Amino acid sequence: MNGLPARRLLLVHAHPDDESINNGVTMAKYAAEGVHVALVTCTLGEEGEVIPPDLAHLTADREDALGAHRIGELAEAMKELGVADHRFLGGPGRFRDSGMMGAEQNHRPGAFWSADVDEAAGYLVEVIRELRPQVLVTYDPNGGYGHPDHIQAHRVATRAAELAAEPAYRRDLGAPHVIEKLYWNRVPRTVVEEGFARLHEAGSEVPFPEPATPDDVPGVVADERITAEIGGDEAAEQAFVAAKTAAMRAHATQIAVDGPFFALSNDLAQPLFTHEYYELAVGTPGVPAGERERDLFAGVRA
Ligand SMILES: [Zn+2]
Repeated sequence: MNGLPARRLLLVHAHPDDESINNGVTMAKYAAEGVHVALVTCTLGEEGEVIPPDLAHLTADREDALGAHRIGELAEAMKELGVADHRFLGGPGRFRDSGMMGAEQNHRPGAFWSADVDEAAGYLVEVIRELRPQVLVTYDPNGGYGHPDHIQAHRVATRAAELAAEPAYRRDLGAPHVIEKLYWNRVPRTVVEEGFARLHEAGSEVPFPEPATPDDVPGVVADERITAEIGGDEAAEQAFVAAKTAAMRAHATQIAVDGPFFALSNDLAQPLFTHEYYELAVGTPGVPAGERERDLFAGVRA
């Protein structure tokens, strides 16, 4: 089947940098194992703030040149993770960053939040029918933390998975394809609490002015809801965490990384998670109830 590897993983994200923060270890691990890992990013992140003072001129309220710059950051990050297939939904700039919930940018022409979900999903159906992934990763219905582009990414990814499987839908976009497993990005509450405990213990060694709080972490849920955990064995894990850290560093306008901690443009320190966690939203778990999958492809048939 068009020369693709046997296992194929598709991730759908809102902005450049979300993939490295949420899934850097997962992407590096599967890319290293020869899985076809594909990333679709829905916007260029044009409305982001900028951390390095010498790049502050790029922001939307000044030169409005951040989107083009972040295309380059994303490409660097993908090199670090070993991921060759990264695309923008509908092509770069088709959908624009909508800004935070309630901002006037939510409703400007081209804003992803204002996009028709079925129309936007059509672009993703074409990718799904081409790559035929067994596993899709995206956000939960609240987008992890309520950002409009993250909520919309969830809606578009969910709708695209349905439409891609629908035999009567748009045969010009390829033959129907059923994705076997759909996961949401999650973080278990105890892992967040332990991460912040380490941050507080490190105290003045943490090079950011203040710590964030567990409420600043997207997708946090009770541990029981986690169905999959991705890390690596000891030697491999170090390499994957190093790749994730380097990928996050590549998004230099958005993320400042220091050792096991990082900060976004709000300058609040957060722990960098070395394992990544998922909740299976659609599909059959590959392990008995109550156990966590250690492989997103567990139980995949085709
Ligand atoms: Zn984002």
